[in-house]
Amino acid sequence: MNALNADLHCHSTASDGTLAPAEVVCRAKANGVDLLALTDHDELLGLAEATAEAAKVGLRFVPGVEISVSWLDQTVHMVGLGIDPGNPALVAGLAQVRGGRDGRAARIAAELERIGIAGALEGALAYAGNPALVSRAHFARFLVEKGCAKNVHDVFLHYLARGKPGYVEHIWATLEDAVGWIKGAGGLAVIAHPGRYRLSHAEMDILLETFRDQGGDAVEVSCGAHDGGQVLAFARLARKFGLLASRASDFHGPEDSPIDLGRAPPLPSDLTPVWTRLV
Ligand code: AMP
Ligand code: MN
Ligand code: MN
Ligand code: MN
Repeated sequence: MNALNADLHCHSTASDGTLAPAEVVCRAKANGVDLLALTDHDELLGLAEATAEAAKVGLRFVPGVEISVSWLDQTVHMVGLGIDPGNPALVAGLAQVRGGRDGRAARIAAELERIGIAGALEGALAYAGNPALVSRAHFARFLVEKGCAKNVHDVFLHYLARGKPGYVEHIWATLEDAVGWIKGAGGLAVIAHPGRYRLSHAEMDILLETFRDQGGDAVEVSCGAHDGGQVLAFARLARKFGLLASRASDFHGPEDSPIDLGRAPPLPSDLTPVWTRLV
């Protein structure tokens, strides 16, 4: 089962990816992916196109989403896998989360203006394939265009991250609501890229335990954001909390992503892959 090339988290132009949903599916197929989930931020818009293309090219496809959550003072991302994209509570919940993005984008642009970078809102929107979903990745592409950094990764070292110019606080969904929407829509809930959060060991334990007790299913052990040590560390936590393990590139596009579709490291063989519940 672990030999299956599963990639259960990536993005299209429906959020902040640079490839259209059908292009993501074709690239995954070409890269040898056996099972793909498209998981756009707070948005289900790309799933119909991806589902149709996957049927056409003969790729097993799982409808997904990546929900923005506020927990303690952090933003935590939760992936939902195998959700019903027509579920009314999920659809309404995501609309509410997306609704906060317009005002946030205006506040980010105002912060950038304060340090002399004008036109950032229009600049970010020009990169957004979906105007309802302006993300920091779109601002990052605009800042690269302006010569403020050499690539998107570099942007986040100097801008848009907490403590840096262009960062604004924002309240997203609650952990409990996000788990509830995903489970209510028949999906599996997964904590995305846990290695990215600035949490102490004790806080990470509380996050995973709370999540599991609310009905959460899995944690991304292998993902584009984790080095080898983090894969082992989160494998230990998956065992400790009895969570299933996921594998994900978090691919955003050929230019923006360190790891291509289907190229995240394999899961440690003793873990139970989350896709055993999907196929
Ligand atoms: P948002 O949901 O608007 O806060 O945007 C978050 C998105 O910004 C992530 O999904 C990534 O696409 C991008 N991002 C955040 N931090 C980084 C980073 N350090 N390097 C590259 N992209 C990042
Ligand atoms: Mn993103
Ligand atoms: Mn994420
Ligand atoms: Mn992602």
